[in-house]
Amino acid sequence: MPRFMIPFDFHTHCTLSFDGKSSAEDMAKRAAELGIEHYALTDHVDLGDFPDKDFDLEATVNGAREIIPALQKEYAESTELLYGVELGQGVHDKALAEKLLAANDYDFVIGSTHNIRDHEDFYFLDYKDTDVPELLRLYFDELLETAEWGRFDVMGHITYPLRYITGDHGIDVDLSQFDSVIDEILRTLIKNGRGIEINTSGLRQKYGRTFPDADVVRRYRELGGEILTIGSDAHCTDDLGKGIEVGIKAAKEAGFDRIAVFRKRVPEFVRI
Ligand SMILES: [Zn+2]
Ligand SMILES: [Zn+2]
Repeated sequence: MPRFMIPFDFHTHCTLSFDGKSSAEDMAKRAAELGIEHYALTDHVDLGDFPDKDFDLEATVNGAREIIPALQKEYAESTELLYGVELGQGVHDKALAEKLLAANDYDFVIGSTHNIRDHEDFYFLDYKDTDVPELLRLYFDELLETAEWGRFDVMGHITYPLRYITGDHGIDVDLSQFDSVIDEILRTLIKNGRGIEINTSGLRQKYGRTFPDADVVRRYRELGGEILTIGSDAHCTDDLGKGIEVGIKAAKEAGFDRIAVFRKRVPEFVRI
């Protein structure tokens, strides 16, 4: 039996996130039990006008900084715990984002967009009276702006709004209408040396696919992209490592034979 059962999981949350269900201790212990070779805790730090009412920026940032080194030592034999963060809406408050990134010695930063300017998280939006293509146009424009800003390592869960639009509200979207802006986002990420992730949470949800799906991953590769991570976006111990195998299969089909592991914001590559 191989010592490591699951090669990696680079996107997970604990109770330091407003929506996390399991403590950092329990998540790290479970990652060690599962034999996840490289494991990142990436708790939510959401900037801008619409953070969750339960979100306490200082408690999250300081809590991670305190607990992660202790857990790294405790489980060093069983899992490589990486000190990550999921930085939401960095472009909504660039000064604060820069300050947080300078003050914390992160291994790995996921740059995510959970809401666009003047809108709440896509989770809360009412899609009945909404021009969905127009909303998605604004979303992709913000991803492009975020890619240009580029103060992260990989862009988080591209196509995240489809979790709600298609998954929860059953509204089908033909993504081909956004091909040119998606290409521009991917080209900008590549130009800036930034990666993307395959987020497998959609496989456990009504949406039933990864964020982004295989087409976008393949396109990133075709355009010359090399930096790819895969994460479950687990918010509890039960979901740790879920879908990683499916993500690896999608990555290989898209033309990847290696995955990035970030330490102190520098990627190294492991074969898949
Ligand atoms: Zn997210
Ligand atoms: Zn997340």
